Amino acid sequence: MKKDFIFDVIKNSTNSLTAEEIYNDVSQNIDVNLSTVYRTLNNLVDKNLVTKVVRQDKIAYYELANDEHKHYLICDKCNNAYPTDMCDLDKIARKIKRETGFSITGHTLEFHGICPECRENA
Ligand SMILES: [Zn+2]
Ligand SMILES: [Zn+2]
Repeated sequence: MKKDFIFDVIKNSTNSLTAEEIYNDVSQNIDVNLSTVYRTLNNLVDKNLVTKVVRQDKIAYYELANDEHKHYLICDKCNNAYPTDMCDLDKIARKIKRETGFSITGHTLEFHGICPECRENA
């Protein structure tokens, strides 16, 4: 099944991948077009098997969904994303809920900066 091929590519990758990168990989093995890849990705996101992260460059990246909550440190020079599990925002979310009555279901946050590698090569 096409879906399994697409899911395997995401599962076996250590990085977040764009739909195009996934397509380039999958199309070497099976006959598939980009819109099928997009449709399948949306389906996997709906089923919570895959997480879609849209970064500030407006490109969507896909990665395997897992329970751990993380944020990304994005390097302005190399555009690599480094995950961090540091998060203190639940406290703020509770405060927002208390003060606004808004039921918070989640949040996204990106940190931008220069990664240690790029700092060294500057
Ligand atoms: Zn960098
Ligand atoms: Zn968080």
